[in-house]
This record gives sequence, structure tokens and C-alpha cells, in this order.
Amino acid sequence: MLPGLPYHVHDPDRPHPKVVTPATEPGAPPSDAVVLFDGHDLSHWQSYQSPITKKGGGPPEWKLENGYFEVVPGTGDLVTKEKFGDVQLHVEWSEPADIKGTSQGRGNSGVILMSRYEIQVLDSYNTPTYADGQAGAIYGQWPPLANPMRKPGEWQVYDIAFVAPKFDGDKVVSPAYVTAFMNGVLIHNHQASMGPMVYRQVAHYTPHAPEEPLLLQNHNSKVRFRNIWARRLTGYDQPER
Ligand code: MG
Repeated sequence: MLPGLPYHVHDPDRPHPKVVTPATEPGAPPSDAVVLFDGHDLSHWQSYQSPITKKGGGPPEWKLENGYFEVVPGTGDLVTKEKFGDVQLHVEWSEPADIKGTSQGRGNSGVILMSRYEIQVLDSYNTPTYADGQAGAIYGQWPPLANPMRKPGEWQVYDIAFVAPKFDGDKVVSPAYVTAFMNGVLIHNHQASMGPMVYRQVAHYTPHAPEEPLLLQNHNSKVRFRNIWARRLTGYDQPER
């Protein structure tokens, strides 16, 4: 028997994984992906609504053109209508070719899992900022393991595997874990997050639902996004559905 499992080695009764038809092109969505943006419309997205001011919540006000959408400064963050917990996420983003600004003011946005756990979006091509705030950082906590940034104006690719934190009442039983590739280069390897993104503070967890919307940050820089899809992740030995 395999330790801790109800199966023996090569068990004929062990469930087979579900069949997924892969994409024909690299980076395109496989058959079981939730396609969140395919270049045509923002129907999967809405403007983030602040729980305090109740501002936002309507249709996205970001600019949609030529197969991508672009941050419009002053119009708030975008969130998905669907919620996700454990997820595989593919996102492509691009900084303005004529980018200006320095440090955190240079093309800032963010891919924020569960509306809380930020993978930083920034121009980090030959331009300095603090390491735990550069592109690919788990913001304020962990710099990326490498900096594979392409030039502004070129498309950057994030492939992220995210494990949602688990709570028991007020206690965090298991933290969020991030595995991520940027432009095919590993930037986080099953790294535990210390908690939701905060600015100039030490992160700490507060309980939240097992699934929450994916959020794209409006930091008033004209960052573009395209080809966004997600796969809900299940564990091993799940019966085919
Ligand atoms: Mg950011």
C-alpha cells in the first residue's frame, strides 16, 4: 500500500485523471479553462466595488481595442465576475512602449489572486525599485527568483499556480502558496505568502471565502492585458467529472 493512501502501487482501482485537450498553440487555453479574456469583450469582468464607499461595481471602464484591454487611469480596479480558489492562471501583459516614470511609478499594475495576493506588474527592464516590489514579486514579501523582464512594449507572460489559504475560524491553517513562471522562467516555487498585499506593512491573514474574484490593479499606469484564462485546480485522485 502507498503510505497514507487507499491505493496500492499500480492500483487498477485508482481513479484516472480527467482528460484535458491541450491548446494547439503555446499559451492558448486548454479545453477545461475558463477563458476570462479572449481579445473580444470584457463580459467576464466588472469594475471593483469598494465595500466601504460602494463606489464601482458597474461595467469595466478600461479601454478595449485590438485584442487587448488597457488600464484607464482613475477608473478603478477590475475584478472577475467568477470567483476562484486553487487555480492555474495565464495572463499576458505589456507596458507602454513610451513608458515614463521611475520605481513604483513606472507601469505599476498587479495580478491579484483572490483580490488579495498580488503578483506585481511593473516595468523592471533595467529600471530599479525595491526588490520585493519589482515585476513578478509577491508584493512586499518575496522578490521573483529571477528577472526575465522583456522591454516595455513587448508582451510579458505570467503562468501562475495558486493554492488558496485555508482557515479554521480566525486561524490560518494553511497559507496561500504561489508557483509562478514569468516568460517561461520560474519566479516562485511553491512559495508561501505571508498574507494579503499591504503597502509598507507586514502582511497578515484575515479569514475570507474559499473563492474570491481575480483582480487586476489600476495603479493609474496604462498597462495592457490579453489572453487571460484560468483552470480551477483539484487534487489528486478526483473521479472524472
Ligand atoms: Mg502593483
